[in-house]
Amino acid sequence: MADPCNLAPYAAHDSSTLGRLYPEELPEYRSAFQRDRDRIVHSTAFRRLEYKTQVFVTHEGDLSRPRLTHSIEVAQISRSIARTLRLNEDLTEAIALAHDLGHTPFGHAGQDVLNRCMAPYGGFEHNFQSLRVVDHLEEKYAKFSGLNLTFESREGILKHCSIANAKDVGAVGERFINQTQPSLEAQLVNLADQIAYNNHDVDDGLRAGLLTIEQLKEVSLFREQYESVIQQHPELNQRRTIHEVVRRMINRLVVDLIETSQNNISSANPDNIETVRNHPSPLIQFSSEQAGLNRELKQFLRENLYRHHRVVGMSAKAERILAELFEAFMEESRLLPDEPYREIMGESPEQREQSCARIVADYIAGMTDRYALSEHQRLFSSPDQTA
Ligand code: MG
Repeated sequence: MADPCNLAPYAAHDSSTLGRLYPEELPEYRSAFQRDRDRIVHSTAFRRLEYKTQVFVTHEGDLSRPRLTHSIEVAQISRSIARTLRLNEDLTEAIALAHDLGHTPFGHAGQDVLNRCMAPYGGFEHNFQSLRVVDHLEEKYAKFSGLNLTFESREGILKHCSIANAKDVGAVGERFINQTQPSLEAQLVNLADQIAYNNHDVDDGLRAGLLTIEQLKEVSLFREQYESVIQQHPELNQRRTIHEVVRRMINRLVVDLIETSQNNISSANPDNIETVRNHPSPLIQFSSEQAGLNRELKQFLRENLYRHHRVVGMSAKAERILAELFEAFMEESRLLPDEPYREIMGESPEQREQSCARIVADYIAGMTDRYALSEHQRLFSSPDQTA
C-alpha cells in the first residue's frame, strides 16, 4: 500500500516504518498506520473510554465529554493540521485515538490516587499505562498480546515517561534518555490534545454551571472572541454564542499552530524523519504570544474549574473509592476475578506482592467510572444492601 500522496519528506512514511515488535506482513489494502488505527478502534480499552471521565464524573452531567469524545475531537484537530502540513494523517489519527487508553476511571483524581497507591511498587503513569495497554494488556490476537502497533504509533502514545520506565521499554523509551524528539505527527497530537481539552473544558464548565461568561471574560483568549461574536451577532442566544466563541477559539489556536510550525519547518528544513528526531527542539509549536494566552487560559481553568468545590468534592469521593479498592485487592487478592488473579507470579512473598500490585493497578486502571462504583459497592456495602 502506497503512502498517502503529497506526503512531505519529513513526515512519517509507511514505507520506512521502524516496524512492529512482532513482524507482520503488510496489510493488503491499508497502510501500516491505518491498520494501527483500526486495531485501536476495535480494542476493548477504546470502547471503555465512553464511560471514563476527564474532569466530571459521568453521571453528573450527560453532556460533558467522556474520554471517547475527547479522543475523537483530538483526532479531528490532529488530522486537519496534519493534512495542511503534509504529515501522515493516518498516523496522527492512530496516536490521537490511543493517547488516553491508559487513563484510570475518574480522570485526574483517579490517576493521582493510583500513583500514590503504587508508589512502593514503581508508581503509575497514565501515558506509560497507555503503552502497556497497546503492548500487553489487550488480548485479542492469536499471535501476540497487545495490538502490536508500529514503532511510530507507540512513540506517539508514550508522550511522557520517567527515566526508570523509559529504560524498561526498549527503543521507544530511548528518546527520554537521549532527549531527542518524536515524529512531527507525535508532536502535533500532543498540542492538539491541549487545544481540545482547554476548549471543551470551557464549554463543559459553562454548561455545567461551574463557570460563568463573566468570569471567562477575564481570559484574553475568550474575551477577544466573545466580543467579536457579540458585535457581529448581538441577537444570538447564549448557547449558540458559547458554541460560536469556542469554535473560533479552536480555530485561532489551530491556525497559529499551523503557521508557526510551517515557519519552523521551513527554517529547519528537515529532509526526513530522522532529522526531525535529532532536531534540538520540537518543530510543532504555538507562537510565543499564543503560548502565553494558552497558559493564561490553563491557569484560569485550574483555579476556577479543576479546583471548583463541586469538582473537588467529586474528586475526593473518587479518590476514596479507588484507594479502598486498591487496598481491598491487595489485602485479599482472591477478590480479583480469576483471570488477573492467575497472573500473579513470584517465588518470594515480596515478588508476589510486587506482581499483585501491578495486576491490581492494571485492573483498576481498566475500570470505567461506573464499574469502579459498582465494584466498590459490591465489596463495601453491608450484606443486606447487596441482596
Ligand atoms: Mg487527552
